[in-house]
Amino acid sequence: NAAPLGHNVIPIVNKLQDIFAQLGSSSTIELPQVAVVGSQSSGKSSVLEALVGRDFLPRGSDICTRRPLVLQLLQIKRKPDGTDEEYGEFLHVPGKKFYDFNEIRKEIQHLNCVATIAGDLFNLLVSILPHGAACSLSLAFISPCPHWDPTCVRARINGRTATQALYCIADRAETDREAGGNKGVSDKQIRLKIFSPNVLDITLVDLPGITKVPVGDQPTDIEARYRTIGVITKLDIMDRGTDARNFLLGKVIPLRLGYVGVVNRSQEDIMFNRTIKDALVAEEKFFRNRPVYSELADRCGVPQLAKKLNQILVQHIKTVLPGLKSRVSATLVSVAKEHASYGEITESKAGMGALLLNILSKYSEAFSSMIEGKNEEMSTS
Ligand code: GDP
Ligand code: MG
Repeated sequence: NAAPLGHNVIPIVNKLQDIFAQLGSSSTIELPQVAVVGSQSSGKSSVLEALVGRDFLPRGSDICTRRPLVLQLLQIKRKPDGTDEEYGEFLHVPGKKFYDFNEIRKEIQHLNCVATIAGDLFNLLVSILPHGAACSLSLAFISPCPHWDPTCVRARINGRTATQALYCIADRAETDREAGGNKGVSDKQIRLKIFSPNVLDITLVDLPGITKVPVGDQPTDIEARYRTIGVITKLDIMDRGTDARNFLLGKVIPLRLGYVGVVNRSQEDIMFNRTIKDALVAEEKFFRNRPVYSELADRCGVPQLAKKLNQILVQHIKTVLPGLKSRVSATLVSVAKEHASYGEITESKAGMGALLLNILSKYSEAFSSMIEGKNEEMSTS
């Protein structure tokens, strides 16, 4: 079992992105994203869970993704005694390890709900407020939710009264942040890390609303076709006598990064509580028993998908890293300069007083010498 490629570059980039996300700036590093050929119920959530090897995503047809979920898989060492630990961490709950994957599901669900409620409330608000309505009206809608996310609301409000509503939300979010109730939720993404010995280092982004990739003879988004990996699900329920060979070979819709075919759990498997681990074993057997797929082994199965995504991600990071490094260094230099221009840091009150006194006396010295200079000028002239 070879060590995953670039085991060190991915954690570095993850750390950088966490910092940028906390600063609220838009991501500096563009990551490759997983696109699934297909629509609702095509198996996107199933693929994400299979890559992690655990169930942890919200269930149910009504619960759709409301906020982008940035999922960072990080491989950790296997324990010699076989008691492997797997856990998740959210950026907005620093220091807390979620060993129970049901709790991860609940947290994502909660965050999605909040985004939905906030979005719906403010849509309502904007629709009922007359032109130039007073700000106090909107205050009534601001619930004391610990997970306020002003940016997710901002996206939904376009219009005149929106700014006022927004002002109040921002205000509220600021208060929460000061009170320590809103740490790290300054960006609308949900950022989740999964640490496990059973994953390859990959970063996946589950975006709201990206459910369809045009299928047909005139693909509309040519650009995306060079950035997309096709994941073909449900190979197990194709009509007997048909197979996805031509699709996997890129003969139907060519994609530069190619395709991977997978078999996830069926609804029945889920109902009977079949684990993802069992499903992965079944998937392996499925491909092994089908001669049509035997020569396409590198394009079949979730482990192949994981490998491919890991390789693409590492390659991508290696390409962007030099540019990123110089941008970070340049920023560092200018921030250090600015910092130095403020003078010495003083924490104590006495120190601050002394500093202020120092500045004032310098100022008064400068001022009096200027006056004296003027006086001298006058007396000599
Ligand atoms: P999403 O809406 O794209 O996130 O799709 P889901 O992952 O929620 O899957 C929708 C349904 O399709 C669920 O009932 C899954 O069990 C089922 N499903 C997904 N992938 C497969 C597959 O490869 N084979 C079979 N038989 N069922 C699948
Ligand atoms: Mg889904």
